[in-house]
Amino acid sequence: MMKPVLFFLTVFQIISLLVSAQTPLPPPIKNNFNKLTSYGELSTYIQEIGKQSDLVKVEVIGHSAEGKNLYALKFSTSEFGKDPSKIKVFIFAQQHGNEQSGKEGALMLAGELLKPENRYLFEKMDLALVPQVNPDGSEMNKRRNANGVDLNRNHVILTEPETIALHQFFDKYLFEVTLDVHEYSPYSEEWEKYGYRKNFDITVGATTNINVSDSIRKLSDKDYLPFILSYLKEMDFSSFIYCPGGPPELAYIRHSTFDINDGRQSFGIQNTFSFIQEGMNGKDDSIENLQRRAEGQMTGMRGLLEYTCLNKNKIKNVVEESRKILTSPLPGQNISIQSIHVANGQSLDIPLFSYYSGKDTLVTVRDYRPVVKTLYDVPKPVGYLIPKDCTLLVEWAGRHALEQIPLKIEKGGHIGQYRISSIDSIDFEGDKIVDPDITVNELKELPAPPSEFLFIPTAQLKGNLVVLALEPKSMLGLATYKKYANFLQNGQPYPVLFVVKK
Ligand SMILES: [Zn+2]
Repeated sequence: MMKPVLFFLTVFQIISLLVSAQTPLPPPIKNNFNKLTSYGELSTYIQEIGKQSDLVKVEVIGHSAEGKNLYALKFSTSEFGKDPSKIKVFIFAQQHGNEQSGKEGALMLAGELLKPENRYLFEKMDLALVPQVNPDGSEMNKRRNANGVDLNRNHVILTEPETIALHQFFDKYLFEVTLDVHEYSPYSEEWEKYGYRKNFDITVGATTNINVSDSIRKLSDKDYLPFILSYLKEMDFSSFIYCPGGPPELAYIRHSTFDINDGRQSFGIQNTFSFIQEGMNGKDDSIENLQRRAEGQMTGMRGLLEYTCLNKNKIKNVVEESRKILTSPLPGQNISIQSIHVANGQSLDIPLFSYYSGKDTLVTVRDYRPVVKTLYDVPKPVGYLIPKDCTLLVEWAGRHALEQIPLKIEKGGHIGQYRISSIDSIDFEGDKIVDPDITVNELKELPAPPSEFLFIPTAQLKGNLVVLALEPKSMLGLATYKKYANFLQNGQPYPVLFVVKK
């Protein structure tokens, strides 16, 4: 009696049935969204699908501060990262341990992508999915890692095992597209007093640092963001552009920081097509609305894959051209090391949930500053010289795996040394940070033999990151972090030298 039934099933359906019979359910679905997925459940699920599916390979990309595995699921129909016609995508979630829906959504996405009907995506791309960057924080439902560090402010100084693992993994494949998945909490006292709060299922933001190539920023802002916001709406999730700040009337609204110490911008500054996605947090506990939150996050990630699949060649070309500007920079290039958020005459209409009416209401934000403008540029030097006896700097360069080459000063070129003449401060997104006054000396010769220095050229993928980290007046520089604050001492030379071509 089975035969006629089988006769009408296509081969495709038979494969689907076989696969779905074998494939384990993603933990949030298995748990019916009644609890958060534990690290143990996540590990078991990932290992099981790694064993069963020919599409997925599991890589342990590093370990958390407490020694838990950091897993990457590598989806590919060929050898991962080896087919130059494909585009490489990297999605990572839950750097912040109390933002649980990113992890749950990523696990659900893994389940979706294993379905045979979604295999077409991998004809065009290889995808690495890290559902949980911060397992220690997740188990405690806390934002920071077990060392008490906010991982999403650690991508420049790169001191934590979790962020180091992300960057080493990125460096291995040089992904063209990255997405960092988070949650936002709209329930602050300030907003409640204001009478409204944000109420979007999902917000999405692009890179805002103005040193990221214009073509990447244009494709992100003018093409991808409109696509993903309408994709989410079509799937019945409310969506809006990522815009921290506010509440309006108290503080201006902007499109996020231009700092490069977070997941999105630290990859973006390497001219990657890079984004952040934030779902709405639960109000009173981490499982409130968990199904809706996880589905929203999954849909946002899925939207990125659909867009990437449709625009593979366009993105690949833009990224390739933009990265060429980093690896073989033209002379005369300037890098903005101090910037500011400014208005452009437009106001922003933002739908907000009204605490009075209990409904979403359109609010017009007048103090809206969507544009980042430079305040201070430096000409991009050929490279920087780090004294080998400065362990802090040598280790930092090592953690970023910065390219180092033998020093060669071209005819007419010279070595420059900064001297700190006084220490002032400057406003950075509402905080006061250090801003040294400097003088520049042209050195006739090196203060020590060349063998005493590491030469870090700026002609490398991390070249703009190097400038932003090492310039003494950089708002985003190492010297703005406590650990490196003593690089700036009144009347003293700055420890890093720079090399200039004629
Ligand atoms: Zn976060």
